[in-house]
Amino acid sequence: MDTIDANLQAVKARIEAAAKQCGRDAESVELLAVSKTFGADAVRSAHDAGQCAFGENYVQEAVEKIAALSALPLIWHFIGPIQSNKTRQIAEHFDWVHSIDRLKIAERLADARPAVRAPLQVCIQVNIGDETSKSGVAPADAPELARAISRLPRLVLRGLMSIPPVSTDNTAQRGYFSQLRRLRDEIASQVCPLDTLSMGMSADLEAAIAEGSTMVRVGTAIFGTRHRNKA
Ligand SMILES: *Cc1c(COP(=O)(O)O)cnc(C)c1O
Repeated sequence: MDTIDANLQAVKARIEAAAKQCGRDAESVELLAVSKTFGADAVRSAHDAGQCAFGENYVQEAVEKIAALSALPLIWHFIGPIQSNKTRQIAEHFDWVHSIDRLKIAERLADARPAVRAPLQVCIQVNIGDETSKSGVAPADAPELARAISRLPRLVLRGLMSIPPVSTDNTAQRGYFSQLRRLRDEIASQVCPLDTLSMGMSADLEAAIAEGSTMVRVGTAIFGTRHRNKA
């Protein structure tokens, strides 16, 4: 078994153990393989090992990979910061976008989504720790943004995404994830149904699953350490 295959099985075992620990069905947690900085060959290996959903952060790099792998039935998620001048390419090539943090970006994605494609599935990125260095809408502004996005054509608002402050402490990790879950519940009861909580990465997926994550975004634990650091 090659490394990617072995790593994937190990990550799936972590997801299963974490789900079991809190009485959840492991099937309710989707695994997104974050392939940024890794080539099409790595994605192909993961596909051959049974993985079909992939997350990417850099538009140019992703569009090349998507084209190279167009024969495979893959689902592509955009999870990186979004510049206005990249919205057309994102709307044309991706199935999901997790990182919407302002209305202007959502409007541009809606305008550019080709009519021949299914609506773009989107999440709002929330800056749960209110860190100045991180992107994401402030938690207090998320309900209003959700209301506006839910009215746009060609987009389906599915939920919330967050990259909380780095912590090695399980209790602290759970605190941030629980804030995102409560915000999701609040918006779902007041604005529109939301079935997705995109939270948890290689280092904290157990805490995220314990707090209700429905999608974990895992890069390093599947593909290894990233060496390139692209803008
Ligand atoms: C890179 C990245 C990940 C994956 O992080 P790992 O720690 O490598 O698992 C998840 N989510 C986002 C938004 C990322 O940019």
